[in-house]
Amino acid sequence: MTDYRTFSPDDAMRFADEHSELFGDHSKLSCKEFGDGNLNLVFRVENDKGSSLIVKQALPYARCVGESWPLTIDRARIEAEVLLAHRKLCPQHTVEVLHYDAARAAILMEDLKQYRILRGELIAAKQFPHLATQLASYLANTLFYTSDFALTGPGKKQQVGQFLNPELCLITEDLFFTDPYCNHERNNIHAEIRAEAQQLWHDETLQAEVAQLKADFLSKPQALLHGDVHSGSIFINDENCKVIDAEFGFYGPIGFDVGSLVANLLLNYLGHFGLTADSSRRQQHQDYLLQQIDSLWQQFASQFKQLMAEECKEPALQNALYQQRFMQQVWADTLGYAGCELIRRTVGLAHVADLDSISNSMLRGQCEAKAIKLGRELILQRHSLANMAQLLTLLNYNT
Ligand code: ADP
Ligand code: MG
Ligand code: MG
Ligand code: MG
Repeated sequence: MTDYRTFSPDDAMRFADEHSELFGDHSKLSCKEFGDGNLNLVFRVENDKGSSLIVKQALPYARCVGESWPLTIDRARIEAEVLLAHRKLCPQHTVEVLHYDAARAAILMEDLKQYRILRGELIAAKQFPHLATQLASYLANTLFYTSDFALTGPGKKQQVGQFLNPELCLITEDLFFTDPYCNHERNNIHAEIRAEAQQLWHDETLQAEVAQLKADFLSKPQALLHGDVHSGSIFINDENCKVIDAEFGFYGPIGFDVGSLVANLLLNYLGHFGLTADSSRRQQHQDYLLQQIDSLWQQFASQFKQLMAEECKEPALQNALYQQRFMQQVWADTLGYAGCELIRRTVGLAHVADLDSISNSMLRGQCEAKAIKLGRELILQRHSLANMAQLLTLLNYNT
């Protein structure tokens, strides 16, 4: 910790120049901080020829709250190491880390300025035909190759230890699985859905299922998760997409990552009831989203199954019936964690712009109520929904 101090733009500039050849020796550099995330500083360093790099530094507290919420700067190590590990397994869709400095909790990475953040694009109703294919490939490769199907027992356990991440996991444990189901002061509940939120606090049937999902989050180290793969952690353009911001990474249930992504597409789907007044444009975008969700699961599952059949190193896990059951359980987890994400993004501390940017508060309340209702059904029915088509009938909302 001794070398740590919060970077000024000048510090970030020197850091980038020191650890990259990109700028050469005599280029004029400039730098500004432009992070819009909840936790960290993000600087862009560029020269007068338009070359640029990103410096991300962890603060010893959560940026959105301030020094009253201390947070380990070791999260920069987790982020760098998860991104490096995932990039080895899926270089096409993982941001490139160029350098990591433990003492300064700083990461130097490629600037994705040719890309835009997925959430904003989906709010603007932009469509990307390869979204599902690309993200299915990211999930299948990063999750399969860090699981027991691909790693040896001792190698896997060493990795589980390397990525324990107790402080950031605790944030998820609280915000996802605890706060929304009680009258917690951290919750952020719009007046229009107060009644729906209060029902969650007395819904013991739902709470029992959420307890199971939380217990699995705590004790099912299946694969090295990204841990925060919402649509604000994905950069996209017409050709490609890349994942950033892996500081919540740890070994957990595979369905958590898949479910986070599915839920963020569903949040956008529901948000457009309030964002897009023209019903045929809305329908067209929502059809696109449903088709991407369906295809995300189909392609993820088929790639994961193929990898299990071809690459599984562990003899006992080569059993075909076991592998079939395994995928069934990942599917149920995916639906369950997607449901938790829908609920926590409407009732919990951290909301999403897909819902919060709906200007008419009554309309926004209706969308939020739909999110809670769909979230609840996903959690309760996760073992009986056989396929995506059944999920889609659940979504038969008119307006
Ligand atoms: P936090 O952990 O605080 O949420 P993020 O990693 O999500 O930080 O980054 C916050 C913002 O900084 C992103 O929304 C994006 O605008 C910008 N950003 C982060 N990484 C990059 C990058 N590699 N290239 C371009 N912009 C980036
Ligand atoms: Mg240099
Ligand atoms: Mg972020
Ligand atoms: Mg982050």
